[in-house]
Amino acid sequence: MKNEKGNTCKIPRAEAVKICVKGTVQGVGFRPFVYRLAKSMGFTGFVKNTPRGVEIHLEGDSSVDEFIARLREEAPPNARIDTLELASSQSEGFTDFQINITAEGQALVFAPPDLSTCSECLEELFNPSDRRFRYPFINCTACGPRYTIIRALPYDREKTSMASFQMCPSCNDEYNNPVSRRFHAEPNACPVCGPETFFVEGETLKKGGIDIAAERIRHGKIVAVKGLGGFHLMCDPFNPEAVKKLRLIKQRSRKPFALMARDVNSAKSIAVISPEEEEILTSPSRPIVLLRKKMEIEGVSSGLSTYGIMLPYTPLHALLLENIPVVIATSANPRESPILKDESEIPPGTCDCMLTHNREIVMRCDDSLVKVVDGCLVFLRRGRGYVPEPLELRFSPGKRVLALGGELKNTVSIVKEEYLVTSQYLGDMKDLRNQEYLDEVISHFKTLYSFEPDILVCDLHPAFTTTKKAENWGRPLIRVQHHVAHVFAVFAEHSIIPDAPVLGIAFDGMGYGEDGNVWGGEFFVIRGTGYERIFHFRYVRQQGGDLAVKEPWRMVLAYTLDADINVNAVDALVEVDARIVKNAENAIKKGINAPYTSSVGRLFDTVAVMTGVAPEKIDFEAEAAMRLEGVALADVEDYYPFRLEKHEIDMREMMKTLLKEKAPPQVKAGKFHNTIVQIIKSIADICRSRWGINKVVLSGGVFLNALLMSKTCHALQEAGFEVLKPEKFSPGDESISLGQAYYTALKLKEQE
Ligand code: ZN
Ligand code: ZN
Ligand code: FE
Repeated sequence: MKNEKGNTCKIPRAEAVKICVKGTVQGVGFRPFVYRLAKSMGFTGFVKNTPRGVEIHLEGDSSVDEFIARLREEAPPNARIDTLELASSQSEGFTDFQINITAEGQALVFAPPDLSTCSECLEELFNPSDRRFRYPFINCTACGPRYTIIRALPYDREKTSMASFQMCPSCNDEYNNPVSRRFHAEPNACPVCGPETFFVEGETLKKGGIDIAAERIRHGKIVAVKGLGGFHLMCDPFNPEAVKKLRLIKQRSRKPFALMARDVNSAKSIAVISPEEEEILTSPSRPIVLLRKKMEIEGVSSGLSTYGIMLPYTPLHALLLENIPVVIATSANPRESPILKDESEIPPGTCDCMLTHNREIVMRCDDSLVKVVDGCLVFLRRGRGYVPEPLELRFSPGKRVLALGGELKNTVSIVKEEYLVTSQYLGDMKDLRNQEYLDEVISHFKTLYSFEPDILVCDLHPAFTTTKKAENWGRPLIRVQHHVAHVFAVFAEHSIIPDAPVLGIAFDGMGYGEDGNVWGGEFFVIRGTGYERIFHFRYVRQQGGDLAVKEPWRMVLAYTLDADINVNAVDALVEVDARIVKNAENAIKKGINAPYTSSVGRLFDTVAVMTGVAPEKIDFEAEAAMRLEGVALADVEDYYPFRLEKHEIDMREMMKTLLKEKAPPQVKAGKFHNTIVQIIKSIADICRSRWGINKVVLSGGVFLNALLMSKTCHALQEAGFEVLKPEKFSPGDESISLGQAYYTALKLKEQE
């Protein structure tokens, strides 16, 4: 989507005009566009890439106003003009308009994201008289691979994995022709000179083979398919045997599988799609979008009300799905490990056959996963199509920062001059393979951006592998508390420098607290980089540590004991083996393997169990909480009692009422959501009267809950608060490195 927030400037009257454009203007066909526009208007001069964007030099009598207007209006679909500055300049007597080719070392942070096949290329793909008819690697300056094939900047063909393919004369002509759509389209290719696909089955290897792969999918086989950022496993979602087999291979009992639909209509046959959702689904980033089910496909997304659906985003996918309306397209990697980019990484027994190709994936990158809430984009995973779009800080902290993030769902971020870049989703750092992925990305960023950090940033948790890595780097180190990082991540994307106090809220599963406890339900008053934790949820024991996440009845027990409720009065506890419950009870009372937690994630789990919607053992993160959200009635208006005492939010009264109450789970779930909204609203009111606060930040993985996010925003906005929420980045732990980096940048700025 085009997004312009440029300032309007006075046009100076001079012999020549210099225009500096910042934003996403490299690798998206911007220079050829400027060339055509300038030529058509009779200007002479040049356009060139600069470290910060694009510079245009105009000479001639035509209207610069009109040029600027058309520059904004007619920019290529994937370009984004952030700022546009004008200055008068000396005439150099140009007789023509030229595109100056990028000089070595000039690009700063502008590696473009991968873009889905554009409509013009698609037309050529299916046009029998086109020389690229059915060629699976067709692309142009408006589309095609970028981030996943770039080895170094500036973005030129020799620095991509296309370097090994020598362009044929026809491709070369397009590449050098400023009016061609393929002028400096770095991955430009055709059947004569470019990459090709291969179908592999047992010992046989066939060139091409897209049609055979499609045939195998239709016949219930599991096919590994090499795409843009890695391998998918694909199969027919309507074949229960194939789905069952895929669940065995992926070792997933219930975690939903993503689907790829041939086109919007095919997607509409299985899901309800709003106009906003359709816009995201068909956008050049082509993420997986969570969409409400219209029909149940057995075993694809059990117990949930949505499917994750994406559309084909490369010509290869478009050809593969030409005669198949929907396929399952899940990443081919084993559970918890990085997405696979190379055939050699695929473990034996993963698939029946394979469709691969010989264009190397330089940087692996997962599909992005999003949903639309109240018309806004919410990221559940940020990767392909969005990474590595930089954030402009509007100040330079003077030092180069590398933030290593936390542990779960990690990313890394760098700050170089006035830009911040956050990596793609890297997974959980407990796994060695993901640690290697993190190293891979750091060294990639170092080459890509000629980056060497002056300062490292990590989490407060002493045992995280990222903390240890940061400590061993041999550079000055800043540690940022997990939930503070969550809040600052939202500041970052909204370019907020909190000069006046702001209320920052962070709700999630867990983060290491400054008192050594497990935090996760935190309210901060923040000013500058200073903060005070003014409220948190009352601590309860998280018996068994991580086990309490997988077996949420343990949290029910902790809340039950804390509120002095008879254990035998709680159905969910009666169902568990009495001896195991007794052991856990003793451990809670003695505080053995039972850290204190203020986690709202655990609170949601608890209520999910108490209302009877949670499974006894969860299969994937937040499964219980997602089910609670799924059943909650949105139009319930009541809420449960709670108390705010000093710094503590006390839920004991709520627990007693909820257990006694004879109401269906849908009502209880609705009332519980309202209770959390009321708590937020009450604390915001306190902050307004004490500190005059009018701005509230919502952050943390719990805010992936659409009902909670939506109701909270409405309640706060109705009361006149300005609400800032995550829209360009995930609310969850993927944004920890972003928050760490921004916090540190602000700290450096304060010290100047
Ligand atoms: Zn194209
Ligand atoms: Zn060619
Ligand atoms: Fe978190």
